[in-house]
Amino acid sequence: ATEAEEKDLVIIGGGVAGYVAAIKAGQAGLKVACIEKRGALGGTCLNVGCIPSKSLLNNSHLYHTILHDTKNRGIEVGDVKLNLQQMMKAKETSVSGLTKGIEFLFKKNNVEYIKGTGAFADEHTVAVNLIDGGETSVRGKNIIIATGSEATPFPGLTIDEKRVVTSTGAIALKEVPKKMVVIGGGIIGLEMGSVWSRLGAEVTVVEFLGQIGGPGMDTEISKMTQKILQKQGMKFKLNTKVTKGDDSGDTIKISVEAAKGGKEETVSFSALVAQAYQLTYSQLDADVVLVAIGRRPYTAGLGVENIGLETDERGRLVIDQEYRTKHPHIRVIGDCTFGPMLAHKAEEEAVAAVEFITKNYGHVNYNAIPSVMYTHPEVAWVGQTEAEVKNSGVKYNVGSFPFSANSRAKTNLDTEGIVKFIADAETDRILGIHIVGPNAGEMIAEGTLALEYGASSEDVARTSHAHPTLAEAFKEAAMATHAKAIHY
Ligand code: FAD
Ligand code: NAD
Repeated sequence: ATEAEEKDLVIIGGGVAGYVAAIKAGQAGLKVACIEKRGALGGTCLNVGCIPSKSLLNNSHLYHTILHDTKNRGIEVGDVKLNLQQMMKAKETSVSGLTKGIEFLFKKNNVEYIKGTGAFADEHTVAVNLIDGGETSVRGKNIIIATGSEATPFPGLTIDEKRVVTSTGAIALKEVPKKMVVIGGGIIGLEMGSVWSRLGAEVTVVEFLGQIGGPGMDTEISKMTQKILQKQGMKFKLNTKVTKGDDSGDTIKISVEAAKGGKEETVSFSALVAQAYQLTYSQLDADVVLVAIGRRPYTAGLGVENIGLETDERGRLVIDQEYRTKHPHIRVIGDCTFGPMLAHKAEEEAVAAVEFITKNYGHVNYNAIPSVMYTHPEVAWVGQTEAEVKNSGVKYNVGSFPFSANSRAKTNLDTEGIVKFIADAETDRILGIHIVGPNAGEMIAEGTLALEYGASSEDVARTSHAHPTLAEAFKEAAMATHAKAIHY
């Protein structure tokens, strides 16, 4: 950009939120610039998140299947060896292909790509510290902040991304650890824990809450998932908190205690008695510790304070329903503001925010954003959990169908899991769909569409689904919600 050149729209951050907004704005004929500091487009998701983790999940699943699940399928294999370096190369090929693809899309849609770190000089001007040296600045009639998020650190443990890692280090380990401790049994902990467990590590997941999967996973599905992952070799310590970590020796020592007992510490005599019975201090040894206790908005160095933008107690930039900050021409989307930290949520917001600029209206249905955990089997859901529906006081029906009764799952010898529907008992409108099972991540698209269209379980049940497909389990769960399944 030339000095203080004015654009219709300046976007800070070239992650999913930023790059999608840039392309959408370019398509609408706006003069648009996107500032990104990491030297590659696609943000966390493409560079160190969704894409590399899914590459490792897919290939580690293949490796694990070949090691443990071929004989009964009539396939005899010889020596199976892991070539971790090559597995990492395959991951890098997927990542670089996709990030370069976005550069191409920028050119195609006349988006100016500025490589550098942006900071607010004033309400309309972003100063850029260029990666290749030097500085520039760019003025925007409109500005979108899309600076994303970063891993929440664990107090007392220094992240070196080699032995004490966040997901960024966990997707790039040079060798398979013997023992890995995962702090946090949310999505990152379970996905990355699965990868290294399949490749041979002894993985122990320590989770503060009484269930795995992070906030949002239905309790019944979470329990089922935990059993399946345990069968695969992962160990879990629930209701347990890590109190400290010591990484000064050859192995890292992680001290844990029962979450309930810990809370009651020194409160009263009865609490002390309870503590004596409940508290179980113990220590876990690890070669690698993965810190996966959530992510927090990233706005460091952006200079939001220079222009008086507000953040809430969790560091999220405060916006209204049209993504506007207190300066209406500055909008915020993606991980650095409210809502689930998901790539497809960021993408929807990007389109809506640009539509607010170009057409004065935009729309995201936050009740119909699917979640997928890419373990094997996958876990996927959309809408409310059973606990949420119960708490809301609405009368509801539950229908479920096991993959063990589905013909395709049986032919695939891959029958663990269920599809579960929750529908309003009076209107039959679908309130939530929860799946653990093969291909759940693809199947939830149908559930999301059903929710978006306000479908009843009977609407889904009366829709023809091809035979033999896993999707028939979806249809039969819908049948079981308002009437009865045929095959179970
Ligand atoms: P980001 O992707 O974080 O992008 C923000 C960008 O802004 C970054 O590239 C950063 O360098 C840049 N930036 C920041 N400050 C500045 C500045 N001042 N100047 C210039 N540039 C700046 N989500 C899913 O939906 N599915 C998944 O399977 C999935 N898997 C994940 C796996 C892992 C291991 C992780 C960590 C996350 C995963 N996520 C997944 C979450 C997903 O990555 C995020 O929700 C998504 O990346 C958010 O997009 P964003 O554009 O808001 O932020
Ligand atoms: P998360 O919020 O999903 O899970 C964090 C877990 O850590 C929670 O279960 C929490 O109870 C637990 N925890 C917190 N403090 C703890 C402590 N001191 N000791 C033990 N446990 C503790 O966060 P995450 O797994 O780090 O993922 C971060 C974000 O990235 C999420 O918003 C997630 O949606 C996104 N992500 C999505 C995908 C996907 O869509 N497939 C994959 C990876 C990451």
